[in-house]
Amino acid sequence: MSAPAPLLSLREVSRSYGSPPTTALDAVSFDVHSGERVAIIGPSGSGKTTLLNLIGTLDRATSGEVMLAGQRISQADDAQMSALRAFLIGFVFQQYHLDESQTAVDNVASGLLYRGLPRHERRERAQEALARVGLSERAGHTPKQLSGGQRQRVAIARAVVGNPPLLLADEPTGALDSRSGTQVMSILESLNEAGTTVLVITHDRDVAARFPRQIAIRDGVVESDSGPVWRDESRPALQKVT
Ligand code: ADP
Ligand code: MG
Repeated sequence: MSAPAPLLSLREVSRSYGSPPTTALDAVSFDVHSGERVAIIGPSGSGKTTLLNLIGTLDRATSGEVMLAGQRISQADDAQMSALRAFLIGFVFQQYHLDESQTAVDNVASGLLYRGLPRHERRERAQEALARVGLSERAGHTPKQLSGGQRQRVAIARAVVGNPPLLLADEPTGALDSRSGTQVMSILESLNEAGTTVLVITHDRDVAARFPRQIAIRDGVVESDSGPVWRDESRPALQKVT
């Protein structure tokens, strides 16, 4: 059986900053297939956030190619990049990045702003997304009235409210106690089981060990990659792709 076309493909992707240039990422290449759940690990300063921002169309590579759902990001203009982001990607950050002045449901609904839906429909879908993260009861609360773990679950609901195929998370448990962190990880796991491809940055090796695939980054290069694994429809177990 041959592997399907990857959802995400990086070819010799480099990113340098400033002048004289310092290299944050150096010729990184790998593919991620639809349905995978991947942990990106590496020490602080190794280039993990740079990598996720390039994949998430928040930044452009200095050289090399990022392909997302068959489209070359380097050839997209800013408007096309925004459109790719709005339809293909959900983002979760360590510090939640919620609007403190808005309720949970309105924070989640803001994830649909670029979809051209009427407000009542955005709120309806936001309620459904809150239910998916187990926070229906907290829809009317503002972030200040929520715990860290609950805030991160609101942020996850906002990221997935538009059902993007790819969910990216940069140290999503970095600010949480271990119990909330475990809860957040199991939500990401169930979203993955429901079909979303998930890429998570973590520097916690125990967290990473629970992912089917780990990519280790050091000094801007891929140090190791345990290799693509995706769910074969016909069989319950995870299959190794070769
Ligand atoms: P990580 O997320 O693994 O901690 P980063 O991707 O944030 O690593 O950073 C990788 C390297 O790139 C670091 O040396 C960092 O200082 C540098 N870097 C990241 N962002 C910028 C920036 N906007 N300007 C200059 N240097 C940067
Ligand atoms: Mg980082």
